[in-house]
Amino acid sequence: MAVHAHPDDESSKGAAMMAKYVAEGVDVLVVTCTGGERGSVLNPKMDRPEVWENIAEIRRAEMDNARAILGVEQAWLGFVDSGLPEGDPLPPLPEGCFALEDVQVAAQPLVRLIREFRPHVVTTYDEEGGYPHPDHIMCHKVSVEAFDAAGDPERYPEVGEPWQPLKLYYDIGFSKAKIMALHEAMLEAGLESPYGDWMKRWDDRPDKGLRVTTRVECGEYFPVRDDALRAHATQIDPDGFWFHVPMDLQRRAWPTEDFQLARSLVDSPEPESDLFAGVREAVAAG
Ligand SMILES: [Zn+2]
Repeated sequence: MAVHAHPDDESSKGAAMMAKYVAEGVDVLVVTCTGGERGSVLNPKMDRPEVWENIAEIRRAEMDNARAILGVEQAWLGFVDSGLPEGDPLPPLPEGCFALEDVQVAAQPLVRLIREFRPHVVTTYDEEGGYPHPDHIMCHKVSVEAFDAAGDPERYPEVGEPWQPLKLYYDIGFSKAKIMALHEAMLEAGLESPYGDWMKRWDDRPDKGLRVTTRVECGEYFPVRDDALRAHATQIDPDGFWFHVPMDLQRRAWPTEDFQLARSLVDSPEPESDLFAGVREAVAAG
């Protein structure tokens, strides 16, 4: 089960990993906390009044396409996008949005889904949300609350029989080592690197790469990830720099998607290369 804040997050964070596990026969459920109603239109070709007027509906249809491309199931938690506040001072969050919900209220439908779908492994974002969007931070809080409560018969008794997932991971999308590897591979290939400026901005930030416990080899599925991303046509500029980094170069420079093991109820020595390490053995042993 992969818990995400908005439609499109599942295609930019851990998408190739999911496609790989789907190909191996794993049932994968993407949970999308909000409808992405306050997302902007980031593709200039889609920046038209009729798109803005129907944004919620369009984003649902985009999510359907991405779901089919990734081969996953998908469920909505039904909360309202908080939007990314901008300005100084930051404006208050809009009333009724996901990030202002009580964590226990917002975790209840996720506990229900965990008890219905019965996942062994759950992925979400780290405590900073991966990047500091209020919905991403809330997604982290709700996921941790639900992971810890779903197996407890005393908690949320109104939403189904207890089920305890065995591992919880945080998605670690970018590390300094990964950006550096891609940057150097671009320069070596004689291509202009879009990563140089990015690295400079990163100098004063802690390196999330230090938290990585688990690298899942999934380069074969990078094209599936890109197709799923493009399905979110309002959110992704198909001419954006992501799509200019040659596929063979990406696979050579950094063929994995990376995660931090945050909770484990099974034995699995680190570093890991499989989110299900220790889980298959534990399940087989009953
Ligand atoms: Zn998001």
